[in-house]
Amino acid sequence: MTIDSMTPDDFRALADLLFPDVEKTIADVQAQYPPRDISDGAYVSRFAPSPTGFLHIGAIYTSLMNRMITRNGGVYILRIEDTDQNREIEGGTEQIVEALNRVEMTPAEGPYTSNPLQERGDYGPYIQSERFDLYQIFMKEVVANGWAYPCFMTTEELDEIREQQVKSRVAPGIYGSYARSRQHSLDKIKQKIEAGEEYVMRIKAPNDTNSKIRVDDIVRDKIEMPANNLDAVLLKADGFPTYHFAHAVDDYLMGINIVLRGDEWIPSVPLHVQVNEAIGAPLPMYAHFAPIAKMDGNSRRKLSKRKDPEAAMSYYYENGYPIEAIIDYLLNLMNSSFENWRAENPDAHYEDFDFDLDKLGKASALFDLDKLTSIAKETIAAYTAEEVYEKAVEWAQLYDESYIPILTADKAHSIRVFDIERGGDKPRKDLAKWDEIEEYYGVLFDAFFENYVPAGYADAPEIKNEDMVELLDYLIETTPQTFNEDKMDWLNRMREYAADNGYAKRRKDYKNDPDAYKGWFGDMMMAFRVALTGKTHTPDLYEMVLALGEEKTVARFQRARDHFAS
Ligand code: GLU
Repeated sequence: MTIDSMTPDDFRALADLLFPDVEKTIADVQAQYPPRDISDGAYVSRFAPSPTGFLHIGAIYTSLMNRMITRNGGVYILRIEDTDQNREIEGGTEQIVEALNRVEMTPAEGPYTSNPLQERGDYGPYIQSERFDLYQIFMKEVVANGWAYPCFMTTEELDEIREQQVKSRVAPGIYGSYARSRQHSLDKIKQKIEAGEEYVMRIKAPNDTNSKIRVDDIVRDKIEMPANNLDAVLLKADGFPTYHFAHAVDDYLMGINIVLRGDEWIPSVPLHVQVNEAIGAPLPMYAHFAPIAKMDGNSRRKLSKRKDPEAAMSYYYENGYPIEAIIDYLLNLMNSSFENWRAENPDAHYEDFDFDLDKLGKASALFDLDKLTSIAKETIAAYTAEEVYEKAVEWAQLYDESYIPILTADKAHSIRVFDIERGGDKPRKDLAKWDEIEEYYGVLFDAFFENYVPAGYADAPEIKNEDMVELLDYLIETTPQTFNEDKMDWLNRMREYAADNGYAKRRKDYKNDPDAYKGWFGDMMMAFRVALTGKTHTPDLYEMVLALGEEKTVARFQRARDHFAS
C-alpha cells in the first residue's frame, strides 16, 4: 500500500497519525464565525501584505483598489501574511497599519491601530502567525479526505531531482515518479515520524495532465489553464502554512468573496483551485491586476524596490507630495476616466468616483512621475492657503526641520504668501510638493531671500544701473500708494511711469530703435522684480508687494538701491 493506493480509511488513519492532538473539524471552526450579512453584489475583500518592512507604492495601489471595490456596502479587510519567517521584520505589521492609517485607508476588519497593535472584526485573528491551530485543523481534514500527504524528501534529494530534471529537460517540480514520498506505506510513515524525520505536507495533485481549469476573472475575463499536477508544499517543516494553503483557508473562513491580487499569482491559480476543493471551499471571484510598471529602455518592467527610488512610499513622503495627489494619481492609473471626473469634481472625495474593476487594463499601468507632478500641482492649487500652511508645516516637522522656523515665524505672513494667486478661475499651479516651497515662494521669506541677494542680485536686470537707481527712487517713494490701489490702477501707474521715463511700450519698439529708450516696459518690470526679490522667476509682482507689506518692500528697494548706486 502506498499513498497512491490508500483507501479512505487509511487516509483517516494517516490524519490521526499526523495530527493526534487536533480534535476539531473544519465544520466546528466554521460554526465559530457568524455568516456574513452583505448585500447582493457587495464585495468582501482583503489586502494581504507580508510585513517585510518595505512599503511599496504597489501596496498602496492594491489597498486602494480594495478600498474602492468595497465602498458600496462591502467589507475591506487587512490580513497580515507573516508565515514566512525568513522575510518578516520586527515591527513590519505595525508599519503596515500606520501606513494605511496615514493614507486614511484604515480597514473595517483586521489590525487597525499600531500602538498597541490591535485588531477588530468577528473573523479573526487577522494575523496569520496567530492562526497556526486553524491551519492544523484544516490540514488534518485535508489529509483525511485524501488530498495531502507528508513528504520526507531532504533538501539534498530535492536538489538532486532538480538537477536531473534540468539535465533531462523535463518540467521541474515534484510530480509523478519525482514524488517519492508517495511511495510510502502508512507503516513506513509511522516509522519515519517516530524516528523524528522532518517532513512537509504536500498536496496530492491528481495526475491528470489533460484536464483544464476555467475560472472567472473580472480583469482577465476568463483564466483557462492546465490543471495543477505538482505536489506543492502546503505546510512547511515548521508546521506553518505556505501562502497557497493559508490564503485559501483564511479567505474561506473570513467570507472573502473576491480575491483581488497581482497577476503574478495567475500561474498559481490551478493549484489554488485544488486547494479550495481540498478544504471544501467555494471558489471566490478572482481579479488579477497588472502591477505598476515603468519603461526601462524599450521594455516594461515592474517598479523595483531595488532599482527605483520611486517604488518606495517613503520617497513621496520625504519629497512632500500630498497624499491626496498620490491617491488621485493611482486612481488615474487604474481608470482613465478618473481624470475627467476629477476635473469636474475638484473638491469631491475620491471614494465618490464610480470605480470600475472591469476597466482595469490587462497590461501594466506605466508609472509617470511627470503625470504625478501635474496632478500634485492641481491638488495643491485646490487647497486653501491655510491648508497649504498646515500641510507644509506637518511635512517639515517630519522631513525638513529647517523649514519650520521659516514658515512658523510669522504664520499670518506665510498664509498671505500662500494665498498669492490662489483660487479664482486661474489659480497659480506651481507647487507639486512641499520641498519646492523655497523654489517658488522663497523670495517672500526673509530667511531664504537673504540667500539670494547677498550674491549680488545675480539675475541682473537688463537696464543700466543709473536707470535702476532712478526707478528705485520712484518705487521707494510710491510704495505706500500701492496699498490703496487695485491691481489695474497699479499697473496703469507703472505703465505711465514707463512712458514718461523713457521706456518703450512694446519690445518691438525698443528693438527697432534701442538708442531711443532705456529699455522696454518688460525690462523695467523685470528690474522691479529683481530689486524686490533678487530673482527673475517669482509670483505676481503686485501680489508680492501686498504680501510683503510696506516696510519690507521699501527696505528691499532701499537695499537694492544701495547696491546699484555703488
Ligand atoms: N501576501 C501575498 C502577497 O503579498 C498576498 C497575495 C494575495 O493578495 O492573495 O503577494
